[in-house]
Amino acid sequence: MRKISFYDTKPYDRIYFDELKGKHGYEIEYFEEKLTPRTAVFAKGCEAAVAFVNDDLGADTLQALYENGVRIVAMRCAGYNNVDIKYAKGKLKVVRVPAYSPHAVAEHAAGMLLTLNRKLHRACYRVREYNFSLNGLMGFDLYGKTAAVVGTGKIGRVFADICKGFGMKVLGYDLYPAKDAGIDYVSLEEIYRLADIISLHCPLTKENYHMINKDTLAMMKTGVYLLNTSRGSLIDSEALMEALKSGQVGAAALDVYEEESDLFYEDNSDTILQDDVLARLISMPNVLVTSHQAFLTKEALYGIAETTMENLDAYYAGGELKNEVLPNA
Ligand code: NAD
Repeated sequence: MRKISFYDTKPYDRIYFDELKGKHGYEIEYFEEKLTPRTAVFAKGCEAAVAFVNDDLGADTLQALYENGVRIVAMRCAGYNNVDIKYAKGKLKVVRVPAYSPHAVAEHAAGMLLTLNRKLHRACYRVREYNFSLNGLMGFDLYGKTAAVVGTGKIGRVFADICKGFGMKVLGYDLYPAKDAGIDYVSLEEIYRLADIISLHCPLTKENYHMINKDTLAMMKTGVYLLNTSRGSLIDSEALMEALKSGQVGAAALDVYEEESDLFYEDNSDTILQDDVLARLISMPNVLVTSHQAFLTKEALYGIAETTMENLDAYYAGGELKNEVLPNA
């Protein structure tokens, strides 16, 4: 049986990989540790390593994996901003799961929007203490408001459809606008000027690092709702914190955070949070932080396991790697 080393394992990761591994003929060695230059050695004896969003796949790790015999890294996620693709070229193949359930992420974004707008997170705590007061819980109708989707790919389009279902006007921005998306494409400047709700669904690249910053926040409508289920570094978190303090931003839903890699997915409840910006954001009643969980549905996890296995099958069969990440991707 072909052996795979599997990093950053959580119990929910194993469910569908365990279900499918026999059928595909793989033995999986699960490691709870994240993939780093130090833990790369665990993969010795495996030609394939499976990694996730917060694993460190910089040049040092890739070199260590290569030296230990790994020849393919299978990302069990869509994003690959944490992989040094240029370094991998010629040494290791890198594959990913470009699509699993766009509905999982888009529905989570919509859930965060509804929660923040209708203050459900606060209402939930109140009634547990038999506090049935409604003061401070007023929201607004989504109907008739303008939602903007930045990145109108698979997830962005599902989110746009959800917004349309609420009777919202939808604007979009994408480097490559899709003709069949049924979305009104405008410039980013217009999005900032016109949108009541802005939801980020584009990948993180060198070009759009901190695209939401002091200057772009100042261009937005006062009280704008900002949703980020894409990647944390799209937003300058300190600038967002200041904009929330001044009221320029009305609410923020963050499923991702730029410094999440050492915190998210772990129970840190026994420690003192050293990240003052995150602590301040979490303390705000109009901020909702979730721990990069937008993908976490049964359908998405099954899709991730299935495509990862198919990616590895294609590699071992010597066939075309349709989900390979290439340096110019
Ligand atoms: P996708 O490739 O289908 O769509 C991305 C879209 O963004 C494309 O249309 C592309 O043209 C556009 N784009 C690229 N660069 C852009 C830029 N600078 N500005 C505007 N648009 C740009 O990807 P997807 O499946 O819709 O996923 C989108 C992102 O969601 C992923 O890159 C990933 O970062 C994030 N994601 C998060 C989770 C989570 O659990 N929170 C899960 C899956 C994906």
